[in-house]
This record gives sequence, C-alpha cells and structure tokens, in this order.
Amino acid sequence: MLANSLIELDRAHLVHPVASYRGHEAMGVRVLKSAKGATVTDDTGHSLLDGFAGLWCVNAGYGQDSIVEAAAKQLRELPYATGYFGLGSEPAIRLAARLAELAPGDLNHIYFTLGGSDAVDSTIRFIRYYNHAKGTPQKDQFISVEYGYHGSSTAGSGLTALSVFHAGFGVPYDWQHKIPSHYSYRNPVGSDPRAIIEASVAALRAKISEVGADRVAAFYVEPIQGSGGVLVPPAGWLKAMRAVCKEHDVLFVVDEVITGFGRTGPLFACEDDAVVPDLMTTAKGLTSGYVPMGAVFISDHVYDTIADGAGEALVGHGYTYSAHPVSAAVALECLRLYEEGLLDNGRKAGKRLMEGLRSLADHPLVGDVRGRGMLAAVELVTDKERKTRLPPEADPARRIFDRAWQNGLVIRAFANGVLGYAPPLCCTDEDIDGIIERTRMTLDQTLEDKDVR
Ligand code: PMP
Repeated sequence: MLANSLIELDRAHLVHPVASYRGHEAMGVRVLKSAKGATVTDDTGHSLLDGFAGLWCVNAGYGQDSIVEAAAKQLRELPYATGYFGLGSEPAIRLAARLAELAPGDLNHIYFTLGGSDAVDSTIRFIRYYNHAKGTPQKDQFISVEYGYHGSSTAGSGLTALSVFHAGFGVPYDWQHKIPSHYSYRNPVGSDPRAIIEASVAALRAKISEVGADRVAAFYVEPIQGSGGVLVPPAGWLKAMRAVCKEHDVLFVVDEVITGFGRTGPLFACEDDAVVPDLMTTAKGLTSGYVPMGAVFISDHVYDTIADGAGEALVGHGYTYSAHPVSAAVALECLRLYEEGLLDNGRKAGKRLMEGLRSLADHPLVGDVRGRGMLAAVELVTDKERKTRLPPEADPARRIFDRAWQNGLVIRAFANGVLGYAPPLCCTDEDIDGIIERTRMTLDQTLEDKDVR
C-alpha cells in the first residue's frame, strides 16, 4: 500500500536526475529504505550489496555511527554559519587546514561547494578571474578529454564529453575543446602504454597549437575517467599531460570527484603518478554522501594571483552553503575514519575486487576488465575478437541492472554495456565475493538472452 502510493507520488512530482522522464514514469521508482555497511535494503525488504556505493560516493559505507554523531553534535551546536561578511565556523576552518595538509604539493587553499558540478564550475570562474588578474584575459579557452565527465552545470557540462549531457542544451560552448581519450581497450593506436601516452601528448600539443597557446587557459582530466566507463590511463599518462600543460603555460586541473578519498588506493589518485595539479576538484567521498559537500583545492600561485589581482575588491563568487559547518563536521569525521583503517581496508578489498573481476575474463560476454583499487569496470561484448558492443536496441543496460538487482546486487550498467563498480571501502571479503558471485550469475542469465547476443 505504502509502496504503491510512493510510486504514484514519485511519478507525479519527483523529477529524477539523468533520467528518461516518461520511461521512469512507466517503470516506477524503487524506494531504498535503510542501509548498513555495504548492504542496502528496499522498502519491500529486499537486501542488496551496493557495488556502486550509491553514486560512487558512500566511501565510508552506510551506518557509520560516528559520522551520524558528528553531524548531530554540529546540528545542535551551530547548524549554519555563513562564510560571507568575514564569518566562519570551527569545523570548516579545521577541515580546510586538514585538507591542505593532506593534499599533494601546494594545494593550500580550499573553496567549499555543495558537490562536484559546482566545484568544476567554480574552477572555470576562478581560472577566468586568475587570467584577468594576471593581465592575460585572452586566455579563455578550455580543453578536456573525450569520454570525460565534469558535471552537468551550465558551463561544466560543456567540459563533459558525453553527448547525453549536451543534446538540446546548447553545449559545448565555442570556448570548450576536446582531445581523444586514452581508452586503452578501443584506442586506434592499440593498447601499448607508450603509444597511448605519445598519442595523447601529441593530441594535446596539437589542440593547444590549433587554439593558440596564448588563448588556452586550462586542461581538465580525471585520473580515471569514471562516467565515461571507468577508463584507466596507463601509468605515466597523467604526468605526461601535466608536463605538456607546464610547457605551454596552461593550468592543469585534476577532477578527483570520483577518484578522491581512497577510491583508487591513496587519498587522491593523482598521487599514484606523483602529479601536483594547479587546481583539484573533489566531492563524493569527502563526506561519503552523508551530506552534500565538494571542495576546490587551489595552489598557492593561483590563489595569490587572484588575491593580489583583486586587491581590496570583492571576488564575487560564493554560495549560501559554501563551507557548511554540518558538512564540514561530517567530512572531518570521514577523514578520521579513512586514516584510521578505511583506506587500508579499501586497498585490501580493492585487490580482492580486481582479482575477482579478472576471474570473469573467461566469460563469453566479457571483453575487458579494468580498474584500480575500488574503482573498476567490466566491458561486455558479443564478439571478443571484434570487440562488438551489445546491441543498444536490446537495452542491455536496463536489463542487466534489473537482473543484478533481482540477484541482490547494485552495479552501474552504462548504456554501452559497461558495468561499473565502486563499492564502499568498508567491504569485507564476503561482500566482495558476493559482488563477484552475483555478477557472474547476472552475466550467465544475460548470455541466455537471444537478442542481446
Ligand atoms: N566530476 C566528476 C569526475 C564526476 O564524476 C562527477 C559526478 N559523478 C562530477 C564532477 C559532478 O559531481 P556532482 O554530481 O556532485 O555535481
């Protein structure tokens, strides 16, 4: 009774993010009710392993009492403080200081947002401001990578390179440019890491020269492309791209919204390549999704140029909920949990996850298995030799998602037949083994579908 009325109310009133509105209305919502550790339960009592940590964000896992207590304490003491008018709150200040300490290099200045899209949007505004302050306002062109995702804000969606976020919205703008992805499994130069890095370096140099080095402000990358299908660049790729940016006085922006906070092993994935960006965006694992928050990390030289350029004038960028004290208190507790065991557990579980997924490589539908730490994907094909994608008209993503759901597993099923994995870092061996087992079961069932093959 309750479930039915919720489905009706949802259908009539709730607009869902990234959804086919009419398709969703026809299908009806699935209502999640409770969660603990890596397990979520819906309102019919069906329990599932959450192999995707919500939306790659619940890194600490569900039901962490100390996070709930940190939020409750802050809510009682001071539920809100603005950062306007020179005001602030203790958790926000302590969080900024702690993040600056933990961040690579001189990323010492932290600007808090509500999530990832507005973090990316803030970098665009800061970079424009920086170039005005520097006396190079003509540097107003931005480059990103095909298959990249940088949010769905009005400006950031044009850095995103996935067509569903562009069609009908009038983006990308003419100041937003793309270079091809490293996508090893389908790269025209083959899968040799050196050839892939060389091709990307050449593509970035060519794009900078085409647009004009005096015009290019910044280059955006994800250390691992998430929403594009968990595309993992070869070791050294990030460093090589960083070097090209330095050569041409182009700011290097690393978007760690998915990869940050232990998802790939270290606290930040750019540490794997010993790379220090000029700006870095984060969200998701910062608060493990318990409350919304994102953060832009700004290097000393970018911050100082903006600050000196502005002088006594206001830098007109800010939100009502920037540096929210409750979100900051939650983030501080998440950081404590990461450092006191969750990062270590995530690394251990990530190894087991990758081994488990690799054991699926012999399945007739599995073309590629890739990932790092607790971020992975399985790319499905109907012909391994030709790397033929599953037929889109059979709507494989919807079917695989539904089937996995019935089998007690939440995974991301991308439209092109890629399955995404990003489980909570708190996963036990049993959780990981369950994810693998239920994936195999789902693949076996999919193999029986004549129209998918
Ligand atoms: N950047 C990246 C790399 C992301 O993966 C995402 C979200 N998946 C965003 C930005 C946007 O973040 P949000 O959904 O919190 O706005």
